[in-house]
Amino acid sequence: MTEPILLTPGPLTTSAATKSAMLTDWGSWDGAFNALTASVCRDLVDIVDGKDEHVCVPLQGSGTFAVEAALGTLVPRNAKVLVPDNGSYCKRIVRILGYLEREAVVLAHGEQEPANPARIEAALAADPSITHVAQVHCETGTGILNPLPEIAAIVARHGRGLVIDAMSSYGAIPIDARTIRFDALIAASGKCLEGVPGMGFIIARKSVLERASGNSRSLAMDLLDQWQYLQKTGQWRFTPPTHVLAALRTAIDQYRAQGGQPARLARYSENCAALVNGMRALGFKTFLPDALQAPIIVTFHAPPDPRYDFTDFYKRVRDKGFILYPGKLTAVDTFRVGCIGAIGPDTLKQVVAAVAATLKEMGVERVAAG
Ligand SMILES: *Cc1c(COP(=O)(O)O)cnc(C)c1O
Repeated sequence: MTEPILLTPGPLTTSAATKSAMLTDWGSWDGAFNALTASVCRDLVDIVDGKDEHVCVPLQGSGTFAVEAALGTLVPRNAKVLVPDNGSYCKRIVRILGYLEREAVVLAHGEQEPANPARIEAALAADPSITHVAQVHCETGTGILNPLPEIAAIVARHGRGLVIDAMSSYGAIPIDARTIRFDALIAASGKCLEGVPGMGFIIARKSVLERASGNSRSLAMDLLDQWQYLQKTGQWRFTPPTHVLAALRTAIDQYRAQGGQPARLARYSENCAALVNGMRALGFKTFLPDALQAPIIVTFHAPPDPRYDFTDFYKRVRDKGFILYPGKLTAVDTFRVGCIGAIGPDTLKQVVAAVAATLKEMGVERVAAG
């Protein structure tokens, strides 16, 4: 049996070369593995054009671990963090700040509304005690793209710190560290770089990291300690995800050979267009207007037909070889389809065909919501 194609935004479908890179066992103390770590970290800074003032700190775990470590290490205990909230990953940041006992100010937005630079500016102007802004770049809960360059410019102008959750955008959507000023930019192995899940990484402003001593209340999540140990020994503190790192090395090699960020964005845009056009032809409606849609993950309204049921729909599409993603919205019934991974537009066309066949099997006739 062939394995199913993942239309989920991490874990995602990886190439055969990336999978093969995991067939070697690495010694975590060995020089060859240390060189692998150093080369990956160097490339991860390069991908966003980071310079000498930026460093990469890798961290074991899923992306959320890296977000929590960044907030716990780089945001001081007496900080006050503004969180523009237009989706579930923004809400996760607010929850993390609660656990970390860092004060949060939520700037509520609708889920179809991009983070509003003017409102962020007004909030910073109105409250000088806000020290940081934590901004999700692509809100994967809906697929909306937030205007990071505008927001970063405002935060810099007001002299506050910026922490960016760029998990689902890093590598595909341009982020230029020479023009976008941040304290921390967070992403992970198993998203647009098309590695396997298991490690996150933080591109940190070196001067901010160096001042972070004593902030973290967690040993395992202390990025400063992780970075200092890495500087001193070339090794990760604690057991590294060796196979994940080896796969990421290979994934980055492919990323570069394919043309880097512009090529990745072009392929994902083609994937997204093939998906959205095909689904619209079947009658589906996207949750977001095209102008706000990042080519990373698309939220579709569930068909209003009484014969539609997500669990059954999911199983039948899965039997045809494709794994979809449930919706993450509370108010409306939706499902999501990822555009990222080692797949091209032909695969997305096959997904649409599998969805069409599934609707027929289920007897779903009313597809268009509203
Ligand atoms: C994937 C993702 C994360 C991390 O989620 P994990 O499940 O911990 O990997 C964080 N933020 C965004 C925007 C994401 O897309």
